[in-house]
Amino acid sequence: MIPGVPRIINAYGTNTRLGGRPLAPEVVAAMAAAARVTVEMHALQAAASRAIAAATGAEAGIVTAGASAALLLGAAACMARLDPGAMNRLPDTTGLPDEFIIVRSQRNMYDRALRAAGGRLIEVGIPDRVSGPGVRDADPWEIAEAITPRTAAVYYLAGPRSQPTLAAVARIAGERGVPLIVDAAAQLPPRDNLRRFLAEGADLVCFSGGKAIGGPQASGILAGRRDLVSSALVQMLDLDLPAEEFAPPAEFAPLGQLRGLPHHGIGRSCKTGKEEIAGLLVALQRFVATDPAVETAGWTARLQTVAAAAPGLPLRLVADGSKPGLPMLVWQVSAPAVAQRIEQRLRAQDPAVHVDAARLGEGRLAINPIAFEDADAVVLGAALVAAAEGGA
Ligand SMILES: *Cc1c(COP(=O)(O)O)cnc(C)c1O
Repeated sequence: MIPGVPRIINAYGTNTRLGGRPLAPEVVAAMAAAARVTVEMHALQAAASRAIAAATGAEAGIVTAGASAALLLGAAACMARLDPGAMNRLPDTTGLPDEFIIVRSQRNMYDRALRAAGGRLIEVGIPDRVSGPGVRDADPWEIAEAITPRTAAVYYLAGPRSQPTLAAVARIAGERGVPLIVDAAAQLPPRDNLRRFLAEGADLVCFSGGKAIGGPQASGILAGRRDLVSSALVQMLDLDLPAEEFAPPAEFAPLGQLRGLPHHGIGRSCKTGKEEIAGLLVALQRFVATDPAVETAGWTARLQTVAAAAPGLPLRLVADGSKPGLPMLVWQVSAPAVAQRIEQRLRAQDPAVHVDAARLGEGRLAINPIAFEDADAVVLGAALVAAAEGGA
């Protein structure tokens, strides 16, 4: 309980606005232990880099304040590289390559992080879907033609419908020597995706710590090329110390080339605390070690408990939720307006129940098991019954 704040049951997902998901006791314990010590933050990030490299196959990695922060820091790294003067000037990009090539259909509100760092978005491709004849999205050659000496990086939003393929984009970026930065914030599970985007040629990849990984809400991962990750790190660290006292850890060896230390960089506004770093690392370890089949079985059992507590409702357990391995409990009603009315009644209960808002338009109340605990399953089932009694 948080005093003065009503508790909710989050049956939507790991959504930030609903506080993500409850953390595993091991993660909470790691955060509590970290909270009671003091450490040098670059040493902690070096430990994080080793763990992230092992989990992702990256050369290096850091824990950030979220995937959005990872994107901002990654963008800053692609622009300033290992130039402390440029780091100090961001978001002023005068004289720096500051263009991020983005496929127009992949534009999204999280790409603001690139602009927050000082980047400019160069959109390519016309996702011509509504006019009738349109069958194509951006073509790889359109990305190639947009690359100029002003290009800082190519940006890619990873997702099941992203076009062109990451491999095709990586080939172009690689040929032209331009970094490729991938927003994969919500692309877990499957856990293979921790490695996949880097293996397919991304130079940097961003993951959310607070979504499937099960880390603290304000955590994320930036992983990839050692020089870029090192640049990102020093743009977040507090480096208010005499330059000769800063010995870069081996994990961030390219920092040895810096001609001086930047001051508080652009990433200072999204700094990561030791508690988040420690919590994320334990969550990552658990995420990698967990057998996906066991996890799916746990989620399925949780949803079956919900269904058993709501006898008489036409709840269907479907294998395919929003992610592979994630089951969902679906209540299909006659029309979107009916789903919306029931959803309002669910939110009016105590504790309020939040279901998957994205499915209401399909006339579905969908229960995602990832962000509530077994202890709430029966309460949730009873809430569904109560909401149904208001008349479906
Ligand atoms: C969730 C999400 C983010 C932001 O992640 P945070 O860890 O909350 O900062 C960025 N990009 C995409 C595509 C997302 O789904």
